[in-house]
Amino acid sequence: LLTSEVEFLKGVVAMDGLPPSDRLEVCFAGRSNVGKSSLINALTGRRAIARTSNTPGRTQEINYFTAGDSHYLVDLPGYGFAKAPLPVVEKWQLLLKAYLSGRANLRRAFLLVDMRHGVKDVDAEIMKLLNQSAVTFQVVLTKADKLSAAEQEKTLAQVRAALAKHPAAYPELVVTSSEKGAGIPTLRAIIAGLT
Ligand code: GDP
Repeated sequence: LLTSEVEFLKGVVAMDGLPPSDRLEVCFAGRSNVGKSSLINALTGRRAIARTSNTPGRTQEINYFTAGDSHYLVDLPGYGFAKAPLPVVEKWQLLLKAYLSGRANLRRAFLLVDMRHGVKDVDAEIMKLLNQSAVTFQVVLTKADKLSAAEQEKTLAQVRAALAKHPAAYPELVVTSSEKGAGIPTLRAIIAGLT
């Protein structure tokens, strides 16, 4: 499902640019530098597939990938990076809200959280938005290889506490390392199992 068949489809800047909602869709969100491109590359087994979304000009777009003809993988722009001018940020927030509340085939949002940092204020804001939009979201911890088991447990406890407020949160956390491949098969299986 998620390996050789994954292709970049298009970058979307407005709701009318979305492809037809004719297949299941999952999206990936997270703060800039959380490891989102690395995770998408690891998931799809294709180095550089998500590099497209990190090239200048592409960073404010909703980037669509097709996985065979059964799924869309959607790479949402990284947030929490203060460099963008305010009108750009506001335009992006409006698009994100419209996307999250208006996409009938969106089955799950994966919210990436850097395991070293845990849930930050900007992540909590996105959780609130996901919750208001009634989009089921699942937290994926990234860069687990940088932490000891004890440090990982500490972050997991913090994340669980942050999720308690959000009924739309899927309780199971996914611990990953794109570098070492940990958690990648689990995440693939979760996506493949969505109906
Ligand atoms: P993005 O901005 O969210 O797309 O983040 P990138 O995928 O570009 O990764 C940001 C930085 O984190 C890069 O230097 C990556 O090499 C590093 N990184 C990403 N995933 C991992 C991981 O699983 N382990 C480690 N140690 N570093 C990672």
